[in-house]
Amino acid sequence: EYASPHELAELMGVTAKDIIQKCFALGKFVTINQRLDKESIELIALEFGYEAEFISEVEATAVIAEEDAEEDLQTRPPVVTIMGHVDHGKTSLLDYIRNSNVVAGESGGITQHIGAYEVTVDGNRKITFLDTPGHEAFTAMRARGAQVTDIVILVVAADDSVMPQTIEAINHAKAAGVPIVVALNKIDKVEANPEKIKTQLSEAGVLVEEWGGEYQCQEISAKKGLGISELMGKVLTEAEMRELRGNYSAEVPASGIIVESELDKGKGVISTVLVQRGFLKVGDPFVAGNTLGKVRAIMDERGKRIPSAGPSQPVMVLGFEDLPQSGDVLTVMVTDREARDLAQKRQVIRREHDFRRSTRVKLDSIARQIKEGLMKELSVIIKADTDGSIQALADGLMKIQNEEVKVQIIHQGVGQITETDVLLAAASDAIIIGFRVRPNVNAKKLAEKEDLDVRFYSVIYHVLEDVEKALEGMLSPEL
Ligand code: GDP
Repeated sequence: EYASPHELAELMGVTAKDIIQKCFALGKFVTINQRLDKESIELIALEFGYEAEFISEVEATAVIAEEDAEEDLQTRPPVVTIMGHVDHGKTSLLDYIRNSNVVAGESGGITQHIGAYEVTVDGNRKITFLDTPGHEAFTAMRARGAQVTDIVILVVAADDSVMPQTIEAINHAKAAGVPIVVALNKIDKVEANPEKIKTQLSEAGVLVEEWGGEYQCQEISAKKGLGISELMGKVLTEAEMRELRGNYSAEVPASGIIVESELDKGKGVISTVLVQRGFLKVGDPFVAGNTLGKVRAIMDERGKRIPSAGPSQPVMVLGFEDLPQSGDVLTVMVTDREARDLAQKRQVIRREHDFRRSTRVKLDSIARQIKEGLMKELSVIIKADTDGSIQALADGLMKIQNEEVKVQIIHQGVGQITETDVLLAAASDAIIIGFRVRPNVNAKKLAEKEDLDVRFYSVIYHVLEDVEKALEGMLSPEL
């Protein structure tokens, strides 16, 4: 018992008549409110360029995966997140870029913090910056299923060293498959030693271009404004190599990602939306996560009202009924009615079914997933008491070879298991191994909520034995 032609039509933005005709073509004679079987829905969804995903056994719904028509695709600006260790200059860099980009005549420039802003480089090329520096926000969004960042700028203070959070940032960016451009900051200081940092970065797996690596690197001073335009140039080069494109058709229903939201006493919910597809327009009805609304106003980062916003453009949007969450997808619907129906459906589905729970990677069930060909790589995060333990564990794990699956250590570090580790695991479908360390209180709560596999050991041999057994499907569930 799944969706009817009527419901499917609504989900995919086509008419029920289209669906019924497709059914006929497939040899099935159906009426508008008749329930279809799973196979038919999968076939029909494919016909319309969607992939059906069955979120609950009671109610079927399609996940938006509509293909873009080639002729609608155009180059879009890159979306950048700045990461790095605390005090290495992330905020200073964001501030410098924001302030140096005040358009002449624009009163006050970018005054509001809206979570993202767009700057113009070389007169006509744009870059969008997410205004929440750090890898925590980045990975929290990913854990919710939203990947918005195209390029990471990794800030390292040249008068300091590669620090634990530098390593975390590198691993979070790599786990997400997002390219890194290195900014060696505080170059104005006499103690600055960029060569030392480059050496340390190479040891952390980031070999800069001038040393034969693949990572672009720029010496800057966020405080003095040195090297910033060169850095922007390198970001744009990276963007060009990635051939970032967006759908600029005025016809497709727009969609975007919620960056952040707040409740304003006078205006109601104000949400920063990063448009990803099409043009979001005033008057558009939409759903966003569990809430919905109708676009009442769109404003740019200067608070100026604009009629519409396209790919990679961050804007403030008014008109939400309720607060959406960061990382929620906003999807424009054809009518208010459709928006309301879909939002209601989603609420029912979420209440009934926490579908994320069943999809988590668990050490005791991976053998089945390997067998079914669903898994090729077991991602692992190691937190341990000493560098020595980490090294020994990593060496041991890398040696465990299995024909079908390989073990990939996406992050390792000395110290407690933190919330950030849990987020990374959630975002990357990884398991966490705690070696002679425990999680802190918040990490423990989050791991329970996210239903993640966190295992604790104090003997290296036991870790290796468990992973080996898991790959062979012989491990019994953790009690
Ligand atoms: P964040 O924690 O990474 O956001 O770092 P901040 O941007 O807050 O910078 C930390 C400190 O370093 C502040 O006191 C800044 O003024 C200083 N700082 C940042 N960039 C530079 C720079 O290029 N040169 C110098 N000399 N100081 C800088």
